[in-house]
Amino acid sequence: MEVVIDKDNYSIEKVDELCIHCEYCTKVCQNDVNVYGKYDLNVSKKPICIHCGQCANICPTEAIRERLDYLFIKKILKEKNKTVVFSVAPAVRVAFSELFGEEPYNVEGKIVYLLKELGADYVFDITFGADLTIMEEAYELVERIKKKERLPMFTSCCPAWVNYCEIFHPELLENLSTCKSPIAMQSSIIKTYFADKEEIDPKNMIHVVVAPCTAKKYECRRKELNTTSIYPDTDYVITTRELAMWMEEEHIDFSNLSSTAFDSPLGKGSSAGEMFGNTGGVCEAALRTAYHYMTGKDLDKLEFQEIRGMDGIKEASVDFDGTLIQVAVVNGMKYFEELLEKIKNGSNYHFVEVMNCIGGCIAGGGQPKMTMLERREKKLKRMNVIYQDDSKAIRRVSYQNPDIVQLYSLFLESPGSSKAEHLLHTHYTNRSSLLEGGDICE
Ligand code: SF4
Repeated sequence: MEVVIDKDNYSIEKVDELCIHCEYCTKVCQNDVNVYGKYDLNVSKKPICIHCGQCANICPTEAIRERLDYLFIKKILKEKNKTVVFSVAPAVRVAFSELFGEEPYNVEGKIVYLLKELGADYVFDITFGADLTIMEEAYELVERIKKKERLPMFTSCCPAWVNYCEIFHPELLENLSTCKSPIAMQSSIIKTYFADKEEIDPKNMIHVVVAPCTAKKYECRRKELNTTSIYPDTDYVITTRELAMWMEEEHIDFSNLSSTAFDSPLGKGSSAGEMFGNTGGVCEAALRTAYHYMTGKDLDKLEFQEIRGMDGIKEASVDFDGTLIQVAVVNGMKYFEELLEKIKNGSNYHFVEVMNCIGGCIAGGGQPKMTMLERREKKLKRMNVIYQDDSKAIRRVSYQNPDIVQLYSLFLESPGSSKAEHLLHTHYTNRSSLLEGGDICE
């Protein structure tokens, strides 16, 4: 039996005629994502999906694929009556070259050049949004540690994990960080701070995100992430694969692409922000900044090898000047229930990173496809590009990003300020009634 995909699914779609009944989708959804088999379709009436797109990534025939939103953007660009801003997520740049038969390497400059060729007015870097997330998330973590409340704090940047938590574990929603994801934070800042700075009416602005992730297509429809009820903060999300499809339709040759820098002021991220692409990267980036917030000092050693690599559950203890901070990383949803068992059996954590895709966003559902056999090796190569970038980077902590410092001094005031709360934080909804045949409650 293959996975069933609802016609209303914002992220993925199924073309039944192309299905060869290999059931790879079912295996991935059951064994890696831990959703197939966890509910009864006779009771729920509608298929339960957390939108991660791992089924689309493994499907050998395109019977399951992401919804092709780039077609709408092509139309908007032709009409030429909107300012079109793109932002590129960190994991895209380390896998894009694979779609053209090359090994993974960082092609961010080529992607910026390509997007400008396709008609972008501005191209920004989501590593900026990732740095902003760390500023807020590390602040929130330190506050919760001081008050000893709502611990462990779970990360909230992976929308597939947020969906899983809302549907299967609503009792944990108060433990989720209230931080919006890096993409959602970046979008809010683009439609407020940046629009104001450039004197562009945000109603005439379209923000498109290039992401490794199909779940982001669902996330951008969440009304609670928008700054106003007039327009969405993120208008469209396209995947790494969609960008390549679009490029080929325009007969643009990858090998002939020049390289251009991201635009300013949302075009500069630290390597901590880039590490969001890897499993353990969010936790490592958060530790670097939380240590600074708690002690007023910079960490001597920035790398946390214990939470790197492909193990399903990774743990580390970090000495914050006399306070021992315990962290864990869940590398793939299939390991989440095991982590929960550990917590029930007495493991105490302050901070837990949860990412749906095994390997992190570098292995997202919208990334270049991988067969079952080559998955591990390809993921490790992509991860390695990000770690190499980090080891060579001049700016390796989010709080030293000068554009982030400027954003707080000119606009947001300080992490956790009421303006930051309004623009950069969100809330969650118990959606467990979906399992019993209830409607989606917003
Ligand atoms: Fe998306 Fe990354 Fe979560 Fe995968 S791990 S569902 S790519 S956010």
